[in-house]
Amino acid sequence: MVAIENRTIEEIRQENAALQTQVAELSAVNKMALMLGTSLEFDEFLDEFIVTIHDTVQCDRVLVMIQDDQETVLQYGSSNFRLTAEAQSMLEGLRLGTFQPESGSIIDRWINNESIKWNANDATEHSSFQWLANYLGSSEYYSAPLQVDGLLIGALIIDNQPSGQPVTDEQEHWIKLLSSSSAMALQNARLHHKTVRELADSMREMYILRQIDRELSDTININHVFEMTLDWALRFTNAQSTSLALYDQEANRLHFLYEYGYDIAQAQMELIREEYGSGITARVANSGYAEVVPDVSIDPDFVRLATNTRSQMAIPVMREDRVVAVITLDSKKLNGFTDAHQDFVQKLATRAGVAIDNARLYEEAIREREKLSHILNNTADMIMVIGMDERIMLINQAALNAMQLYTNQDYTKRLANEVFEHTALWVTFQKAKENGEAINEEVIMPNERIFHANLRRLDEIGWIVVMHDITPFKEMDRLKGELIATVSHDLKQPLSVMNGYIELMIMQQSVTQQGLNAVQMIRKAMQNMRQLIDDLLDLAKIESGIKLDLHNIQVEQIIQDCMELVKPVAQNKAITVMNGITDKLPPITADRSRMRQILINLIGNGVKYTPNEGWVKVSAEVKGNMLKISIQDNGMGISPEDQIHVFERFYRVRRPETDNIEGTGLGLAIVKSLVEAHDGQISLESKLGEGTTFYLLLPIAKNAA
Ligand code: ADP
Repeated sequence: MVAIENRTIEEIRQENAALQTQVAELSAVNKMALMLGTSLEFDEFLDEFIVTIHDTVQCDRVLVMIQDDQETVLQYGSSNFRLTAEAQSMLEGLRLGTFQPESGSIIDRWINNESIKWNANDATEHSSFQWLANYLGSSEYYSAPLQVDGLLIGALIIDNQPSGQPVTDEQEHWIKLLSSSSAMALQNARLHHKTVRELADSMREMYILRQIDRELSDTININHVFEMTLDWALRFTNAQSTSLALYDQEANRLHFLYEYGYDIAQAQMELIREEYGSGITARVANSGYAEVVPDVSIDPDFVRLATNTRSQMAIPVMREDRVVAVITLDSKKLNGFTDAHQDFVQKLATRAGVAIDNARLYEEAIREREKLSHILNNTADMIMVIGMDERIMLINQAALNAMQLYTNQDYTKRLANEVFEHTALWVTFQKAKENGEAINEEVIMPNERIFHANLRRLDEIGWIVVMHDITPFKEMDRLKGELIATVSHDLKQPLSVMNGYIELMIMQQSVTQQGLNAVQMIRKAMQNMRQLIDDLLDLAKIESGIKLDLHNIQVEQIIQDCMELVKPVAQNKAITVMNGITDKLPPITADRSRMRQILINLIGNGVKYTPNEGWVKVSAEVKGNMLKISIQDNGMGISPEDQIHVFERFYRVRRPETDNIEGTGLGLAIVKSLVEAHDGQISLESKLGEGTTFYLLLPIAKNAA
């Protein structure tokens, strides 16, 4: 009671007023806290914030400046200003860097947690505050920084426009109070909003990139790649227009392939580019560095193609350090492109680069394949590739013709047996598969032409079959054979007449001794000639396809007989003829008299081409289903150059050692033809001066155990 009595009514009223103010302040802060607790979008949040401040402070206009995502500038947050569209957009473009501000400037004051009260008539205040008033269209404003832990995160600006009333001390008081109590909440809301947005952005980015990767790997159409790239770039960055230009570095020329969202006709854009160049796009093409231009109006290189472009981003598409294209995006917002946008388009550009490469490589591969297929189809040789799985990988036109297949059908991927089991090549193919090596063989194809077939196995590919049409050579050969046979036959008759007369002259002793010598010489020459004619006729007969009298025969006896036959000649030269056969040999399927002819020839040659006191040895062994007979001598040998020719008709080695040895050069040709007629093979090994070995491979009789 005493206390009350001691206080005056005035004091109590003042106390009441102070209490009321406190309650009002508390309720304002409470209201703010309540509002901040609701999960609003940040933009809505800012608008609510402005309304609350406006209602509490009772001022006309409120503006909030707020930190950007990078936290390096204060930018327009929200306001309840009613400005002209132009003034509003200027205000929205307001950006104040917070790094090392000029001393005494607005930002400097805010950083130092000082408020600013500016009045057009108060010359004592810093003149650099004037420009903000101009922006706002204020004659007087009050501003308080928003700080969290001593760091500037934004600012509140109020004025009493359009009434023009000065900002009262009470209004200042409220603003100070509210700015300090709401800064933290505002900061949290911004960070929360930023995190949510970043998360959503990166989810969206990941989703889009996954989709892009999928679609890009599906397409090899370069135009589609470009279209998709631009579409995604537009969607992700919310840009309004975009272009893609291919860049020719040598000519330093940009070729604009795609342009979306421009409000100027294409022809007009071309005219503008011709006159003013390609602006920032050209700059990026030259430098190879991506650029984001937050405000195109202050970039001297900018060339306007859309009326409301305010910021631009240009990203180069690189291939191996070269710019191959530039993607340009335009936004109607100032500073419309964030780091995330740049990052994303950069990723797109990388993908587009790879896709461009893939598409180019694919096109090149197709071109090469077409070229190759053109060459293959226009060669006269039959070419075929059969995979390890016995499916046709490649078959050319000549092969289709030779096999009498449909030339307009695709036989690739078909099983080999479906394609050519009906041809003689199938047998050769089976043989090649069996022995796993290269095979060279003559085959007659269904089109009745004779081919020289070469089948070769290539690891990891399969079988390469190349066949050359030798029908004309075969025909020539046949004609030649026929000619020789006819001529030889016709020569034989006069030779018999001449022989008869010579024998008569010798018998009648009608010539002198000297003449007799000459007659003997003529007789010898005629014998050689007869031998030659006989050999020629024999060869012609064999090559035209002789009929062999095949039986299962034991070869040891024939070898022994042949050795006996040559022994007299061998003895003359003191040459030892040895039989190296110790084991019992399996029978072979052969013509007995032809076998004899083969062996006499080879053993005879051994004796003939081995100097006095040498040796000739015959041996044999079983090799799989073949019998291998070797006829070896330690004679003069055959040089590698001659080895490849000795089986040819009339080929005789010309060396000093062979000068006095008579022969026709037909022996080995006959032997080879006979061996092949027996389905056998002949080969030789020889070293000049050391000796020669001929090998015969002959099929063992089928029913021999
Ligand atoms: P020719 O009637 O000349 O003996 P061939 O066809 O039998 O004809 O042989 C061709 C050539 O091969 C011979 O001229 C000879 O030079 C060479 N030749 C054949 N067999 C032997 C051998 N055992 N040693 C060395 N040279 C040989």
